[in-house]
Amino acid sequence: MREMTVEQATDMMLHVCDAIIGQKQYLAEVDSRIGDGDHGAGMAGGMEKAKAALEAKRPFPDINTIFRTMGMEMIGSMGGASGVIFGSMFMGGARDVPSAQILDSDILAKMMRASLDAVKHRGKAQLGDKTMVDALEPAVLALERQACAELEESLKAAALAAEEGVEKTKDYVAKFGRAKFLGERTLGYEDAGAVSVRVIFQTMKEYAEVQ
Ligand code: ADP
Ligand code: MG
Repeated sequence: MREMTVEQATDMMLHVCDAIIGQKQYLAEVDSRIGDGDHGAGMAGGMEKAKAALEAKRPFPDINTIFRTMGMEMIGSMGGASGVIFGSMFMGGARDVPSAQILDSDILAKMMRASLDAVKHRGKAQLGDKTMVDALEPAVLALERQACAELEESLKAAALAAEEGVEKTKDYVAKFGRAKFLGERTLGYEDAGAVSVRVIFQTMKEYAEVQ
């Protein structure tokens, strides 16, 4: 598909909420290996709030408002590092690009670039620090390379890049969050926040494929 309507994008993001909620246990497990194990509960809780707000407030005037609504709910309800980080991801994407009435690959690339910038500005993590940036940054680069492609193509590339990014987090020593206290002992384990990013892009890709 070339582009999505605001209503389709709302449905897509509701699927994203459901996917994260469904992966609550798995995300908790991944975080418990090198963190405190709260990532699943945090992300699922934030996405429950985001889902309720999306359902209550639709239809939205533009794509930006979908993301902003999700980000505000996440920041408002989630504790821990990930509330601010994932909240900033959704709010940054909404705030820093012009109002969009449709979602195509080019707009998605611009929004996700703004999301990445917001996360890096807020959290100060760079590529290789074993955070969600290690999945988000390659996904954004893939989207930018596919800015003229069909949406399912650009999302496929982004999902693959995010997945590869998650794999690479196994080779990195944690520099942020609770995992940083384990230093070298974090080697061999994937980062929980990166796994969440993978779930988000994977679900968006699956939604675009069946449209
Ligand atoms: P907490 O670290 O407070 O327990 P969570 O377990 O919910 O919060 O989230 C941890 C995830 O947040 C990490 O796996 C990492 O991906 C992400 N994260 C933590 N700090 C940062 C940061 N400064 N920048 C980017 N992502 C971060
Ligand atoms: Mg944690």
